[in-house]
Amino acid sequence: VGFNREFTINLAKYLPLPLWEIMTQAAQAATARGWQLYVVGGSVRDLLLAKQEGNKSPAMQDIDLVVDGFDQTADVGAGVELAKTLQPLYPESRLEIHGAFQTAALLWHKHPVLGSLWIDIATARTEFYPYPAANPEVEASSIRQDLYRRDFTINALAVRLTSNHAGEVLDFFGGAIDLKERKIRVLHPNSLIEDPTRIYRAVRFAVRLRFTIEAQTEAYIRYAINSGVYQRSLLAHKKAPALQTRLKTELKYILQAPYWERAIQLLASLGALQCLHPTLQLNQKLWWLLRLVDRWLRRFDRQDNLVHWLLRLEVLLLGLETSDRQSVAYNLQLPNDSLERLSHLETYQTKIESGLSEFEQVSQIVKLLQNYDLPTLILVALRSEHRPTRQTIWKYLTIWKQVKSPLNGNDLKTLGYPPGALYKEILEDLLAATLDGRVSDRLTAQTYLAQKYSL
Ligand code: ATP
Repeated sequence: VGFNREFTINLAKYLPLPLWEIMTQAAQAATARGWQLYVVGGSVRDLLLAKQEGNKSPAMQDIDLVVDGFDQTADVGAGVELAKTLQPLYPESRLEIHGAFQTAALLWHKHPVLGSLWIDIATARTEFYPYPAANPEVEASSIRQDLYRRDFTINALAVRLTSNHAGEVLDFFGGAIDLKERKIRVLHPNSLIEDPTRIYRAVRFAVRLRFTIEAQTEAYIRYAINSGVYQRSLLAHKKAPALQTRLKTELKYILQAPYWERAIQLLASLGALQCLHPTLQLNQKLWWLLRLVDRWLRRFDRQDNLVHWLLRLEVLLLGLETSDRQSVAYNLQLPNDSLERLSHLETYQTKIESGLSEFEQVSQIVKLLQNYDLPTLILVALRSEHRPTRQTIWKYLTIWKQVKSPLNGNDLKTLGYPPGALYKEILEDLLAATLDGRVSDRLTAQTYLAQKYSL
């Protein structure tokens, strides 16, 4: 494996024309400074995969470029400087600079042809600054180093944009073979110890691309999990806030994807749920709950800003003891309403179950349940061992919650009731009477009012 000058891809053929033009401009700007420029990462993987399978080119919305160059006169990194040079050529794009030196991005919110487009431009990381950029050996070693920091061989391929070797694929770690054999493989044995989120990434790519995790990599995964390194780093929130955030991001990607079921199963079979907590296991009960919550998510879809991935994660955490659940949720920095739900779920459940067993009238049930938000009610329904509880909550959410009183404030005014604080009481009363079947339309509502409230 290494650099095989025979292996090339004709980007002009695969990239949409406007994107190809941007790449060409970027390459010219880099060449003018004596720098090398590469496309790296996910877009190279997706392009080569499309080429291999004879598919048309994939959607290209996130492009990662790496510049290899050093300019002693510049006070910023080459990536930042290149982005600054390019931006004025595309007035509709926005320039963002991250960190003091290393990366910049050009963003198009609404590119007329490409839709949203995000081009990251990073500077190849190397420990050997400064060096003459013209020296091809040093240059190759620095892009190699940059690629070596990446997660899997299929994500560590680069396509050169500059020089007369443009289109050349740089494959130092066997990524091309792994793409052919559809394998997810780490670059070195330490990779998963270095960055635990890579386990989740491995699973995500395996399931999404329909690849398998290569046997040695799987062994590294199991070894890393058994070594306890994840638990030490992941449970120690104060030490590793960035890690927690990245793990949450990976969980989010997995749990919001259409393939989440297969991904969770694969994570569980690798023992990787233990990265969240040593006692977390996908037993039959938990699996059943995860499947069941989907029914609720489908039914209530976007209501009350229901966040699908988050609710799935909350259900997954139902597999833990309350105190563990709380600490995992806190470490993952879940939003406040989610933390609160997960901490007080038992209390809410007890209150709801005892209320439901006591109340007979629908209006009483509605009054009780309207104190809780939709995700809380779904979690309580799922957790409840008591089938009627689940059925009542379902009925409340699908039917009773939507019921309206046949008369509103304006109607009361027309009927001659003097506006005032009493309106609220009357309207609540009317709604309760409607829910309980004592009132069914405007006429019965008026009769009900006439009997109870004098004008
Ligand atoms: P997607 O198609 O899901 O966006 P991607 O490969 O572009 O996939 P990103 O998460 O956008 O994934 O990451 C971009 C690139 O950065 C990856 O291709 C990989 O080379 C590198 N990378 C991302 N996360 C890690 C990580 N945890 N460890 C090492 N390299 C990473």
